[in-house]
Amino acid sequence: MTIMDGKLLKNKILNNIKNKIEKDNLDIKLAIILVGDNEASKIYVNNKEKSCNYVGIKCDKYLLDSSTSEEEVISLIDRLNNDDEVTGIILQSPVPSHIDFDKCAGTIRYYKDVDGFTRDNIYNLYMNKDGLVPCTVKGIIRLLDEYKVEIEGKHVVIVGRGNIVGKPLIHAMMNRNATVTVCHSKTKNLDEICRTADILVSAVGKPNLITKEMIKEGAVVIDVGISRVDNKVVGDSSFDEIKDKCTFITPVPGGVGPMTVAMIMENLLLAKEMQDNG
Ligand code: NAP
Repeated sequence: MTIMDGKLLKNKILNNIKNKIEKDNLDIKLAIILVGDNEASKIYVNNKEKSCNYVGIKCDKYLLDSSTSEEEVISLIDRLNNDDEVTGIILQSPVPSHIDFDKCAGTIRYYKDVDGFTRDNIYNLYMNKDGLVPCTVKGIIRLLDEYKVEIEGKHVVIVGRGNIVGKPLIHAMMNRNATVTVCHSKTKNLDEICRTADILVSAVGKPNLITKEMIKEGAVVIDVGISRVDNKVVGDSSFDEIKDKCTFITPVPGGVGPMTVAMIMENLLLAKEMQDNG
């Protein structure tokens, strides 16, 4: 069994990006909009800022009061869309309930949409064309590639059909010629389906959902879930219980999470290239 070390790979990727930015003297700026004071979001925003600082990308944070209106958020995005110094824009999720996240994030120009959530980028993923791919999905694929796990022809079971991970991952895996099955809260016989997976990806957010009985001997398990239990961050799977049945497994924390941040930095480089090439 090999533990797929997302933290190590993140550091390697960040160092490559840092070198490229220095060598090519690139001027890149990320704008992050955070509405309200969700504590977890603050941590995520700070992590993104830290990575930006490390690789030499400027990072402007717009910390808006929770009473900010939808119109004000859209108007800020509009200003950032038209600012040539801004390479990428992130609207941090979740936003307060009076704001429609999809409507606001949807106004980010596709070539500044480093989260990969806009229609154009989703369409490109759907059509298997180049574009900015959602970072967690891109991070999962990169992790598998780094550890030379073949995807083509494999049965990939994705548990969770959320808009940020599960749904875009269906397309990313199909684009790599996997055979994909998607499960969700209404799926019957989840255990049985999971047992047929060569690569099992769980993106739910329920601790201990994935148990030993659900793992085929020799499977690869990618745990995307993040939950807090007794102040500890845990994934969807019972890591200690299942690890010996797996050939590769991601830990939580330290697996997919760090990859998501690394892929934001890669998407910023890609966005810069798209903008420089018109
Ligand atoms: P989401 O939109 O709430 O989706 C959760 C999915 O889980 C839904 O499709 C839901 O099914 C399914 N589900 C719920 N209970 C289930 C059950 N008992 N059996 C099977 N499926 C079940 O969440 P998300 O945004 O995709 O995020 C999923 C998890 O990944 C969360 O823990 C989140 O924190 C984590 N995450 C991690 C990263 C990272 O960088 N590591 C990035 C993004 C998200 P229905 O559709 O039927 O409701």
